[in-house]
Amino acid sequence: GLLGNKGWTPAWREPAPKAEYDAIIIGGGGHGLSTAYYLAKNHGLRNIAVLEKGYLGGGNVGRNTTIVRANYFLKGNQEFYSHSLKLWEGLEAELNYNVMHSQRGLINLFHSDGQRDAFARRGNSMINQGDDAILLDREGVREHLPYLDFEQTRFPIYGGLLHPRGGTARHDAVAWGYARGADRLGVDLIQNCEVTGIDIENGKVVGVQTSRGAIKAKKVGIVVAGRSSQVAAMAGMRLPIESHILQAFVTEGLKPVIHHVISFGMGHFYMSQSDKGGLVFGGDLDFYASYAARGNLPMVEHVMEAGMTLMPMIGRAKVLRSWGGIMDMSPDGSPIIDKTHIDGLYLDCGWNYGGFKAVPASGWCMAHLMATDQSHEVARRFRLDRFRTGHLLDEEGTGSQHN
Ligand code: FAD
Repeated sequence: GLLGNKGWTPAWREPAPKAEYDAIIIGGGGHGLSTAYYLAKNHGLRNIAVLEKGYLGGGNVGRNTTIVRANYFLKGNQEFYSHSLKLWEGLEAELNYNVMHSQRGLINLFHSDGQRDAFARRGNSMINQGDDAILLDREGVREHLPYLDFEQTRFPIYGGLLHPRGGTARHDAVAWGYARGADRLGVDLIQNCEVTGIDIENGKVVGVQTSRGAIKAKKVGIVVAGRSSQVAAMAGMRLPIESHILQAFVTEGLKPVIHHVISFGMGHFYMSQSDKGGLVFGGDLDFYASYAARGNLPMVEHVMEAGMTLMPMIGRAKVLRSWGGIMDMSPDGSPIIDKTHIDGLYLDCGWNYGGFKAVPASGWCMAHLMATDQSHEVARRFRLDRFRTGHLLDEEGTGSQHN
């Protein structure tokens, strides 16, 4: 900036689409870009394109509240998110890009004996998986988070589950880092290229129709987050996905005051402080299905109330901005990384509120699936047919955190 932006080179090329690719990824969000990167890096494919209808990173990957954690309880989720956190821990070196991964510690608060039991079990199962967890009592929480309202009696703070390796990362930088890495491996990143149709012949995918013409492909991955139902419908599929809006908020910049990521156990509210000083926070979904990337006022009120209940001091901070993103909600809250009934057509979706932390492992596993036609071992329970067979992964039913 001080040099007047002179002499900067673009971080990736702007290629025109070729007539044919070995693999096409639809969607240039975190998951699509990491899938392309690992397809090239781990599996040696080079003739790959990512087709993005807008600009890279303009979807949820640039709209989330950036929480990265591996504190899942259920087998199936645990090993996947554990793998993802390990990839996060090496990501800056892998991509040679500063994604500002900050393992500042995440504290999930509990407010009853029953919730304490659930968190104790969760902590034990995290430790069994090889991740870290420390059960804090009320005084332990007070040492870390002295500014919480410990006097309020409606939702008394009993303690918290500390996940020291949990934290945050700079979301846009994750998209940019994977984009640059994929581009350097020869992947064509094609922006302003909306997929409008999926071409199928004799039960096999043969290409896509786009706003920039038809492109042939041997394999196609649908990695479009909140638009999954719409894009899968182009292949005649009806997904078990509903799209809802999740809002987030940021205040004016303040001096460092909140050193952890905190989540309230009795209402939908969680918060961290960005490196610029803004308090970044959010809550639950707007409950109606929608494709409008903006939320509504009742949820704003709900989030503010929950925040003020937990830490009244934030009432002094001025909210600068709020925004919304379109979430691909699956019925059991867990994702899908699977083949479809159409040969060569693969699906990566259902990330709900929590797909940012999954970006590295989702790309890793989706690339493995697309390259080998086999599920990766840490993603083998993310099957599309579990909603027919009943092998659900209902993490929320075990008292989990959302984001
Ligand atoms: P996106 O970035 O949305 O990428 C999908 C891309 O597909 C988009 O760029 C879109 O333009 C493109 N696309 C769609 N249709 C087409 C088409 N027809 N042709 C071509 N391209 C198409 N997760 C966490 O782990 N931690 C959090 O703290 C967290 N907080 C969140 C807070 C908010 C407010 C929101 C909205 C989400 C949050 N999430 C969080 C969830 C996380 O952001 C998402 O699960 C994740 O980003 C989704 O995957 P993605 O990055 O690939 O999606």
